[in-house]
Amino acid sequence: TAPALTPEDVIHRYMEEVVPAPDEDCIICMDRLSCPSDYDVASEGAQAIPPGAVGRFTTCEHTLHMLCMLAMYNNGTKDGSLQCPSCKTIYGEKTGTQPKGKMEIYSISQSLPGHQDCGTIQIIYCISPGIQGPEHPNPGQPYTCRGFPRVCFLPDNDKGRKVLELLKVAWTRRLIFTVGTSSTTGEPNTVVWNEIHHKTEMISNVSGHGYPDPNYLDNVLSELASQGVTDDCLLK
Ligand code: NAD
Ligand code: ZN
Ligand code: ZN
Repeated sequence: TAPALTPEDVIHRYMEEVVPAPDEDCIICMDRLSCPSDYDVASEGAQAIPPGAVGRFTTCEHTLHMLCMLAMYNNGTKDGSLQCPSCKTIYGEKTGTQPKGKMEIYSISQSLPGHQDCGTIQIIYCISPGIQGPEHPNPGQPYTCRGFPRVCFLPDNDKGRKVLELLKVAWTRRLIFTVGTSSTTGEPNTVVWNEIHHKTEMISNVSGHGYPDPNYLDNVLSELASQGVTDDCLLK
């Protein structure tokens, strides 16, 4: 495997320094870009970046204090990727904090409401209780797993199969679940869905997470895209 990039390497990989500072505010600290960043210079990688340095993202061209972006990076999963706080463009490969588990895929002949012309793909996610790692809200404490194995459904047509392939990428990148507080039950330190909606009812729709839902496949494709999981991931 390649040597790990340091936090300042990651900043310099995706941002170029702009001189002089543009006459704008930094979207992270809200101070003028012409004033130096207040971010703690004692923290990891901060010695390599002067407090007055302003960076511009290579693709979206948004500008902010390089030290403020370093602070945001150091507070995250430090996976070598950056996300522009202005427009959410992802640089590199975003990964999440999903605990270890299994994703299983099955095929069933019965159709989903609204997709009568095809069978159904069934996805089963299995995650077991464990201890939180450094990437989780309370490292060293246990996390619980409610409602596992969780069973989800997609229509077995071209678009459904494409969503399945992208969900496999999202699973590998640890983006499907996270550890946090359940908004449904209020329970903390538990495994919860993470911004990519799944349909957990096949025939009924008691929870509102069932079929029919004519917009579901498009909605989940855009949720996957905002995590950096797009068609491009399937070409590699
Ligand atoms: P949460 O309540 O923190 O919500 C996170 C996201 O998941 C939200 O976007 C929410 O809209 C969505 N969500 C909530 N309930 C869902 C459901 N039933 N199916 C699909 N998406 C749902 O997330 P959470 O704590 O992970 O899940 C909510 C509750 O649903 C939990 O109590 C869990 O036990 C239960 N659940 C049970 C099963 C099951 O198969 N028995 C499957 C999924 C969820
Ligand atoms: Zn700033
Ligand atoms: Zn941007």
